[in-house]
Amino acid sequence: MSYIDDDLTKLKHYAKSLGLTVKIVPADKSIDCSAVYIAEDKQVILYQFKGRSKTFMVLCLLHELGHHREFLDRSKKDTETLIDALNAEKPNKSQRAAIYVSECNAAVYMVIIRDELSLKIPRYKVMAESQLDAFVAESFYINGKHNTQKVNKEKRKQLRKEYKDACTRTFE
Ligand SMILES: [Zn+2]
Repeated sequence: MSYIDDDLTKLKHYAKSLGLTVKIVPADKSIDCSAVYIAEDKQVILYQFKGRSKTFMVLCLLHELGHHREFLDRSKKDTETLIDALNAEKPNKSQRAAIYVSECNAAVYMVIIRDELSLKIPRYKVMAESQLDAFVAESFYINGKHNTQKVNKEKRKQLRKEYKDACTRTFE
């Protein structure tokens, strides 16, 4: 078993300890997100797309568990603005701002959870992904539409390189 299987197992146990169930569901064409956290159902759903790596599953799970941690921070209460924003077909700018804040708060927890559980996924990958998630939400807030896959892919590549260089730098 590779380290990534161990990480996935640890994350599922951790989710369970927080009272959450994690479902891994094969994705069909109607699915336009990688994962979703449903606070009222105490559930995280991970969509399994063909060709998606286990590393990506770990990163998605870290993000969704981050949503649960920030939900607990807010004393288990989603603000009305956020609920409206998440339910809106086309969220307006202040609704998008609420989503952006929630995404940034969730992203902050990704590295924290990775460290708390001593996961073996390289730290720079989690740092890069958490920055990417904030970037994706910021772009949606500013532009009112989602980035293309290509833009996000390029950004991930750039961030991973930056964080890898920073994390492996030695000082004399
Ligand atoms: Zn999110």
